[in-house]
Amino acid sequence: MTRSVMRLVPHTIRHEPKSGVTYETFCVTVGCGEESGPQEEQETAQDWCLRHTGRTGHDLFRRVFTDYARVTREQWAPAS
Ligand SMILES: [Zn+2]
Repeated sequence: MTRSVMRLVPHTIRHEPKSGVTYETFCVTVGCGEESGPQEEQETAQDWCLRHTGRTGHDLFRRVFTDYARVTREQWAPAS
């Protein structure tokens, strides 16, 4: 009889700095729907909110920060 053994292979997940972080803001005032679009700088997304409030009076925004994560397989030595 042959037995097979399922082994868990350990993996690690980490922020991928090369891909950066994206900042995006969305006006949540009912009926508006405007958004900053993805920005590389947080300040640019926040400036969009300030300008939008000045123009429309809308003062509540949903902020989304997106980063990238990479999963790598950990190196391991098979049991001898
Ligand atoms: Zn708005």
